[in-house]
Amino acid sequence: MQIIGENMKIEPLSYTYNALEPYIDEATMKVHHDKHHQAYYDKYLAAIAQNKKLMAMDVREVLADLGQVPKEILQTVINNGGGYYHHSFFWTILKKSVPFKGKVADAIVKKWGGFENFKEAFTKEALSLFGSGWTWLVLTDNGLEIINTKNQDSPVTLGKKPLLCIDVWEHAYYLKYQNKRAEYIEAFFHIINWEKVEKHYAAALS
Ligand code: MN
Repeated sequence: MQIIGENMKIEPLSYTYNALEPYIDEATMKVHHDKHHQAYYDKYLAAIAQNKKLMAMDVREVLADLGQVPKEILQTVINNGGGYYHHSFFWTILKKSVPFKGKVADAIVKKWGGFENFKEAFTKEALSLFGSGWTWLVLTDNGLEIINTKNQDSPVTLGKKPLLCIDVWEHAYYLKYQNKRAEYIEAFFHIINWEKVEKHYAAALS
């Protein structure tokens, strides 16, 4: 009998593995997408395979309401459903040479007083995260916020809507940057797909 979760492939990237060079290298993209992301997906599906209700739901809806997840699989769903969803989201907001403009850019400038101030605040937050996790720009009831989440804990679970994020797990940058997280964060600012962030912002507002 085939167990659901085995031999099912995650969505391929919508760009080549080397598309983000030199900011994120091809080898990192391959192992990050094909191995790390795939493993989160496999473990998530294996955990919920016997649960028809969760199987029928989008992973984001599951993370938004963890109350419906049985206790025995709760932490597995948080870790692996989170890992699956966050990586799927992360790939969409990466692209080289997209100008910082649009309504979301206007809102960022209004909140932080300019792109450089935003970059500084976001970088400071990402550098302050001890261990593994993600740094996010999210939309909340109080407007835009920069937050960190540990491990694969999700902003969606906190009722916050993701607009952009950076993966600050070491597996996201270690091959190229080793322990130099600051250089990786600096590089990240060259590959933010502001057009996609704009779409996430419009969806979050509606
Ligand atoms: Mn990752």
